[in-house]
Amino acid sequence: MAAASKPLLIAGAGPGGLALAILLRRAGVDARVLERAAGPRTGGGALVLWPHGTRALAAVLGEGAARALGPTFQRVHVRGWTGALTHDLPIGKLSAGKGGWLMALERGRLIEALVGALGREHIRWGAPVESATDEGDRVSIHLDDGEQIEASALVGADGFHSKVATQLRGPVPPRLANMIAWIGSSLTPGRDETRLTSTDGQGRRFLHIPHAGGSWWYAYTHASLAVPDMASLRACFRGYPAPIADLIATTPDGGWLRFDLQDRPPSTVWGDGRITLLGDAAHPCTPDLGQGVCMALEDAVVLARTLTSDVGAPQTAFRRYEGQRSERTAGLQRASWAVSQVSCATSEFAAQARDAVFSVVPRTAILGGFAAMFADPSAQTTGAKAMK
Ligand SMILES: Cc1cc2nc3c(=O)[nH]c(=O)nc-3n(C[C@H](O)[C@H](O)[C@H](O)COP(=O)(O)OP(=O)(O)OC[C@H]3O[C@@H](n4cnc5c(N)ncnc54)[C@H](O)[C@@H]3O)c2cc1C
Repeated sequence: MAAASKPLLIAGAGPGGLALAILLRRAGVDARVLERAAGPRTGGGALVLWPHGTRALAAVLGEGAARALGPTFQRVHVRGWTGALTHDLPIGKLSAGKGGWLMALERGRLIEALVGALGREHIRWGAPVESATDEGDRVSIHLDDGEQIEASALVGADGFHSKVATQLRGPVPPRLANMIAWIGSSLTPGRDETRLTSTDGQGRRFLHIPHAGGSWWYAYTHASLAVPDMASLRACFRGYPAPIADLIATTPDGGWLRFDLQDRPPSTVWGDGRITLLGDAAHPCTPDLGQGVCMALEDAVVLARTLTSDVGAPQTAFRRYEGQRSERTAGLQRASWAVSQVSCATSEFAAQARDAVFSVVPRTAILGGFAAMFADPSAQTTGAKAMK
């Protein structure tokens, strides 16, 4: 059978893999997803999507459906542990007219929306990809039960522990950030529902995300603080400005998750022949800048665009996509790692020095950095619109 008559397969029904499948099917490409889990993975707490992420999400779902998934925010406040405001960042104004907005949403709602838009019939659940062989004119994909499937091409969107990436790059051990992230869902509402508030402390950081029914929050704690449970987390933030204590105290049992943070340094190996990578499989980063889903969605928009303009030659399209994405994603991986190391300085001296330096960074420089982050040169809305 000719390669073009075989489906293009995507390993992984995460945000990146699902978004790519939606865009490709809309453009007439027979794209299907192989997912290891038995059904949609709808746990995982809340996510923040920056304007470049929502711009890509709007290209996938349409702006109305994307906006309906969660609240929009206009500003980010950054403050020290005394409560003093360091920076007031008008993200809404900064992203106006650029096709994206700042929002938060539950990962489960995002996955459900993407699965609904794709159609469950295009996803094979309980199908863990073990390895793949590029046969020149097609790819043979091996599942972990020994079954072999033929595809015109394979996109490894199988996350941080990607089998496809391991096959391409060899085993690369994760780099531990020595930070723990806690994600909670509290019953306490925020006073200002248009604002995210980040509080930087000594070896700890807190992000408050208010929404109509309460609040989501992220707490980051340095591993040396040895915070094993919610009672210790509450003690760890004792004396920090309101409403942090209330938010933790009104988080019900089962309303929180805990992750050890890790990444892998940027890699120059993204693909080979008819195989490429997307999302965390390609560029795993720590979540300190909230970039993982944003980058995965951007990857999907760019890859869909390059593939549909070169559908008969996926190997060529894949190399163009990798060339367009590698520099930007490597920069965001490095920036995320740097923030994870600097923002949770454990000694009082280091934390005060960090805050003193940050408070004198000119506002124009900070806003310029955000503007560069939102304006992805390789995934401008022209590309996203072309997919519609
Ligand atoms: C604590 C924390 C907070 C975060 N907060 C944010 C945030 O606010 N904003 C943001 O943008 N990002 C955030 N991220 C990052 C984000 O979660 C990831 O970057 C994002 O989920 C990556 O999407 P993906 O589609 O590439 O991979 P994943 O979401 O990991 O999906 C991969 C999929 O592949 C499946 N799979 C795995 N192995 C196989 C296999 N062998 N065969 C078939 N299927 C397989 C998995 O079951 C899964 O469904 C956060 C991450 C963490 C840990």
